[in-house]
Amino acid sequence: MDTASHLSVIVDLSPTQWYLSSKTADANPYPLSLDTFFSQLFVFLNSHIACKDENTLTVYGALPGRSILLYSSTGEAKADQDVVADANTYRPFNVLDSTIMKSLADYVQLLGVSETETPIGLVGALTKSLCYINRISMISAQNEQHVGLDPRILVLSVSPDQSSSYIPIMNSIFSAQKLKVTVDVCKIYGPNSVFLQQAAHLTGGSYVHLDHPNALLQYLTMSFLPPPGIRQLLSVPTQDKIDFRAACFCHKRIVDIGFVCSVCLSIFCQPVPVCSTCRTKFPIKTLQRLNAARPMPVASMDPSAPSLPSSTSIRVNAANGNGVRLNGAQR
Ligand SMILES: [Zn+2]
Ligand SMILES: [Zn+2]
Repeated sequence: MDTASHLSVIVDLSPTQWYLSSKTADANPYPLSLDTFFSQLFVFLNSHIACKDENTLTVYGALPGRSILLYSSTGEAKADQDVVADANTYRPFNVLDSTIMKSLADYVQLLGVSETETPIGLVGALTKSLCYINRISMISAQNEQHVGLDPRILVLSVSPDQSSSYIPIMNSIFSAQKLKVTVDVCKIYGPNSVFLQQAAHLTGGSYVHLDHPNALLQYLTMSFLPPPGIRQLLSVPTQDKIDFRAACFCHKRIVDIGFVCSVCLSIFCQPVPVCSTCRTKFPIKTLQRLNAARPMPVASMDPSAPSLPSSTSIRVNAANGNGVRLNGAQR
C-alpha cells in the first residue's frame, strides 16, 4: 500500500428493503439487520483509515428520494467537537462512527412516513461521489502530489434497480471511466442489479452478491478493503455472468431486444419512425422490415417477467438496418 487511497462508500438506506433484509424467510435464510450492518460496516471503514494515514474516506447515504453526505475525512460533515471522548476507543474511529450515526439520526428524524416508499437517491449519491473525487484529484494535481489517489466507490446495495435511472447511471459510469474511478458493488439483499453489475464491469470493479449477508464483514474485508492497485495480486471475486441488458429511452423498461438509433445510439423497445432524441427520420421500409423481424409482436417488458430469456449480451438492430453489437449501452 504505497500510495494513499480514496474510498467513497454509498450506503443504500431504503427503510423497506432493510426491514425485509432483517426478516428470516425462505428466500432470506441469513437475515442481516440494519444494526448489525452498521456495526460491521464501521469495522470496515475503520480498517480503511487505519491502513494508511493518508487514506481518505467519504460516506454517502442514499435515502428515499435524496442522498446525503454522512462523513468526509476532509472536513465537510465533520462534527469533531460533538464527539464524546472514550478512553477505550482510538479517537479517529470514534469520530468516524459517531459522526455517521449523528448525521444519519438527524436526517431520519426529518423523514416522513409517506417518504419511506420513495426510491432511494442512488444516482445523486453516485454523482456527488464522482464530483468529490474529481475535486480532490484536481487539488492533489495542483499541489503536485503525484501520488495516485487510486480512487474507488463502493456501493452497498439492498434496493432493486430503478429502470428510470438507467440513463443517469450509465452517464455516471462513463464519468467514472474517464476519472479512472473503480466502482465496486456489494449486493447485500435482493435480486441482482443489472445496472450495478454493468457499473462494476465497465469500471474494472468487483460485483459481489452475498450468499451469507450476516457475514458481511468478511466479504468487505476480503474483497473490498484492498485498493485496486493491489487486487491484481489477489484473487478478488469476479463476475462470471453479467447482465448487459439496457433500458429503453421511451418507457424506461429493461429490454432484451432493443432498437438503436443509428445516429445518436438511443435505445427503443420497438422500431420508431422518428428518433425522439435526435429527430432523425427512418425510412418506412426499414420499419416494416424490422417489425416483421421482431420475435414477438408485443413483448412483455416487465423486468421480473421470467418468460424472456436473459442474455449476457444483446444484439440490437440499428434502425437503418445495420446490425450493431451492443455491449451495455453506449449512451
Ligand atoms: Zn420503450
Ligand atoms: Zn437518434
